Amino acid sequence: MDLRRWLSLAVDSVEDWQSSYPPFAPHPCLEVSEANFKAAFETFAGRMRGNYPYFHPSYAGQMLKPPHPAAVAGYVAAMLVNPNNHALDGGKITSELEKEVVAELASMFGFLTHLGHLTTSGTIANLEALYVARELHPGLGVAFSAEAHYTHERMCGLLGVPATAIRTDDRGRLDLDALDETLATGQIGTVVATAGTTGLGAIDPVHDVLAVARKHGVRVHVDAAYGGFFTLLAGGEGSAGLDPLPWRAIADCDSVVVDPHKHGLQPYGCGAVLFSDPAVGRFYAHDSPYTYFTSGDLHLGEISLECSRAGAAAAALWLTFKVLPPTREGLGQVLAAGRNAALDWWSLLAKSDVLKGYQPPDLDIVSYYPVTEPASLAAIGQSADRILVSGMTDPQRPVFVSTLTVTADEFRRRHPRVIMDREHTKILRSVLMKPESATYVRWLHTRLEELAG
Ligand SMILES: *Cc1c(COP(=O)(O)O)cnc(C)c1O
Repeated sequence: MDLRRWLSLAVDSVEDWQSSYPPFAPHPCLEVSEANFKAAFETFAGRMRGNYPYFHPSYAGQMLKPPHPAAVAGYVAAMLVNPNNHALDGGKITSELEKEVVAELASMFGFLTHLGHLTTSGTIANLEALYVARELHPGLGVAFSAEAHYTHERMCGLLGVPATAIRTDDRGRLDLDALDETLATGQIGTVVATAGTTGLGAIDPVHDVLAVARKHGVRVHVDAAYGGFFTLLAGGEGSAGLDPLPWRAIADCDSVVVDPHKHGLQPYGCGAVLFSDPAVGRFYAHDSPYTYFTSGDLHLGEISLECSRAGAAAAALWLTFKVLPPTREGLGQVLAAGRNAALDWWSLLAKSDVLKGYQPPDLDIVSYYPVTEPASLAAIGQSADRILVSGMTDPQRPVFVSTLTVTADEFRRRHPRVIMDREHTKILRSVLMKPESATYVRWLHTRLEELAG
C-alpha cells in the first residue's frame, strides 16, 4: 500500500483526462511562485504537527482515525474535477457512484427497497430522518433514549417537534417498559433506537423497540451513525460475533443513519441516511427557478435537505468499497479487530488491581475507572482527570484516552458499593476503532495501569 504512488495515479488520471480537451493557459492571477507556496506550506505543516496522533494506536481517545489510502486517492481524483452531487449536471458520474454506494449500504442493512443519499455528517443525516418523521406524523413527538446522541434533542428543537428522553437500563440501553409507557400516551410518532451509543457503544434492542413501537403504530428510526458497520459481524463465529437480533431488525425499521466517516474508513464529510419507503421523497419536492435539473432521472438534490455536496465523498466511498467491500470478509475484518481489542482489554481489566471495568463493551469502546481509596465518586473523578492529563502530556510515552461523565445513578446500577458522594463523576473511555489497536491493547493497559498506580 503506497499512498504516494496511489496519489500520483490519481493526479495522472485527471491530467490525462484534461489533456483530451484543447489546451489553454491558466490565468496569471492564479499563479503562485514555488517559493511563496513553500513558505506558506512550511508554516501550515508546522501548525499541523500540533495535532494529537490520531493515526497511532496510542491514541484511543475519541472517534478519530485517518481515512484509508484508497479513500484518499479516490477523494483527490474526484476533488480535482470537483463535481457537486446536488444535480446530475454538476455531478454527472459521482451521482451514479453515490447511488451505487447507497444501494450497497441499503443491502448491508437488509433494506428491500430504499431511498437515500450521502450527507455531510451523521448530524445532518439524523436531521433528515427527523424531518421526515415530523412530516409523516405532524403534531406528534419523537422519543429516544437518555443516552442517544444529543443531536436528537437539539434537532427536535430546530424542527419544533416535542422530544422525550426515555430512561436506560443498567447497560445503557433504552428501557422497554419505559418506552411502552411513553408510547401508550399516543403522543409519539417516531422512536429513535441507537445501534451503538456514542458514549459506551451500547446497542438498543432494536428488535424489541420495533415490536413495542409497532404495537402503538409508531415509526422507528435507527441511529447507527457510529455502530452501523458492525452489522457486518452480527451473528458471526467467534468472540467478535454480535447478537444478531438488533442488527437484523434494522431491515424492518423505517430509516437508518450510518457514518462512513466514522467506521467506513472515509475522511470527514460522509454520513448517510436511508429510508425504507421511497415515497418519502415527496417531502423534498421543490421547484426553484435556479436549479438546473435537465433530465427526468433522480437528481440527489431532489431528495436532500443539503444542496451542494462533495461528489468526491461519494467517489472516495465507492473506491473504498471496491477494494474493501462492506462484507464480513472485507470491511468486517477491520471492525472485528477493534472489537476483539476491546474484549481483550476487558479481560485484562478483570485482573487489574488499579483499574476496574465500568461496563462490558458491546462494540469497540472500553469503559473503566481507577480504583481509589476511598472508593468514592469524587475520588474516582479526580483520579480519572489526572490520568487523562498526565497521559496526554507525557513527553516520552504519551497515551490518549477520554473521560465520560456518568451520573451517580448510572454508576450505582453497575457498581453499587462505590460511595455516592457526588451527583456525577468521570470515568475513563477508550475507542479502539483502529484495527492496529488489536496488537496494542497490552501496551495501552499497562500504560494506563502505570498512570493509575
Ligand atoms: C457521531 C454520532 C452522531 C453525529 O454524527 P456526526 O457525523 O458527528 O455529525 C450521531 N449519532 C451517533 C450515535 C453518533 O455516534
